[in-house]
Amino acid sequence: MLGHILSLPLSFTNFENIRYMRIDERQKTKVIATVGPASSTYKQLKSLVAAGVDMFRLNFSHGVHEDKLKIISHVTRINEENGVHIGLLADLQGPKLRVGQMEGDGLKLKSGMILTFTNTVCVGNAKKVYMSYAKFAQDVHPGDRVLVDDGKVVLRVAETNGVDEVKLTVVHGDVLSSNKGVNLPDTDVSLPCLTEKDLTDLKFILTQPFNWIALSFVRTPEDMMDLRKYVDEAGHPAKLMAKIEKPQAVKKIKKIIKASNGVMIARGDLGVEMPVEKLPGIQKKIIKHCIQWARPVVVATQMMDSMIVNPSPTRAEITDVANAVLDGADALMLSGETAVGKFPLPVVKYMNRIIRETEKSSGYLGFKPKPIKRSSLFFSDVVCFNSALTANEIGAVGVAGLTVSGYTAFKVSSFRPKGSIFIFSGQKALLGALSICWGVKCFYYDKFSSTDETIEDVTTILKENKLVKPGDAIVNTGSMPISKRLKTNFMKVTVIE
Ligand code: PGA
Ligand code: MN
Repeated sequence: MLGHILSLPLSFTNFENIRYMRIDERQKTKVIATVGPASSTYKQLKSLVAAGVDMFRLNFSHGVHEDKLKIISHVTRINEENGVHIGLLADLQGPKLRVGQMEGDGLKLKSGMILTFTNTVCVGNAKKVYMSYAKFAQDVHPGDRVLVDDGKVVLRVAETNGVDEVKLTVVHGDVLSSNKGVNLPDTDVSLPCLTEKDLTDLKFILTQPFNWIALSFVRTPEDMMDLRKYVDEAGHPAKLMAKIEKPQAVKKIKKIIKASNGVMIARGDLGVEMPVEKLPGIQKKIIKHCIQWARPVVVATQMMDSMIVNPSPTRAEITDVANAVLDGADALMLSGETAVGKFPLPVVKYMNRIIRETEKSSGYLGFKPKPIKRSSLFFSDVVCFNSALTANEIGAVGVAGLTVSGYTAFKVSSFRPKGSIFIFSGQKALLGALSICWGVKCFYYDKFSSTDETIEDVTTILKENKLVKPGDAIVNTGSMPISKRLKTNFMKVTVIE
């Protein structure tokens, strides 16, 4: 069924003649690729899947809905044609600030120069620069830093009239060009997390088969709850991901993790808003908490940045990818590398090569978080934990779980067992969402007759896909009686005949 689908293409840039990677050749740490002009045709997307992409990110900071529709239909077609479950992630821009359009190629800057930012739309020049933030003059204080273009331009607030204009001193910078992003690390931005643009985008997103919706610049758990209200109201199955890129979010990280289904460590903006030297420590801490709470965690931005223009990565990038694997991330994300870069296919191949080698040579990572004590799902957690533990102890090929809600999959994955995690579900949207979970391999299965029959079917499907052979052991888990759809309540060891 699935075994024939995936195999590795040999040529780096040729999008033709792709042999897909077999499901058992895929590694445990997953890969997310951002789609853009360099990767949006059916052929390009298909070849990226073949090279090992598990989920595509559609960034709503750029482009129009019409283009997104095309990409969504291509990915849906790839899934249908190949029986795979590649996920789709919609990334909402959130309260991202930007300067407006500037005259010519932008304004040449000199240290000490004074600029005036206004909330009235205008084409920017040495006199006035427009910024998309109505309450800027009310929210800032003299001395606050204003960072433009990922911190390449550093400004400091000199004075504000408290209404509509702010005077800023240029501390550092070369040019201020059109539509560049602005970060205010010292200011409490009063904008709501879901902006007008986000709500328009969300309306569209909720009509489409997205598996995850990410929200940028989350500051509080309430931001995620707001988003959840809209998603629940629409009855949409998408899981929600909090992008951690504000110091306020790092402070409330545990509560934000609990209010979300997954987390992205958005190192791009986070590295502008916080001292960059704190990033590695924050990355490790967030990953640890996410594993503890069984929330998939994504490491994002600049992982293979130099490959936007170069055909191979730097030693530092290779080490960064490997270290994110060793930290225990569920998935690693490519941004500009696949969206606008010159080498979208090679970058995915390189990332997979590094992941595979790191997983192989580092051996078992040995994460063993204890089941969360006395939660309402304590018994289920213990069963999931012991399925993973038993599989490790007996050297099982994997844990095979059956799930409707996905709970078993998220939970077993969080225990990071040595073997594979085979997940069977009749919920297609869920299978796509699980595409970024560490070690999870998904199968569509919608028969819910008896536990005995299901265990037999699971074995047959794994055999068909050459994932198990006679003599191998697997640990089955799920809930019985199967028709009652209870939380995980059984585990069983099956030796393949
Ligand atoms: P972005 O988010 O690519 O949407 O800005 C990721 C980041 O900031 O790292
Ligand atoms: Mn960002």
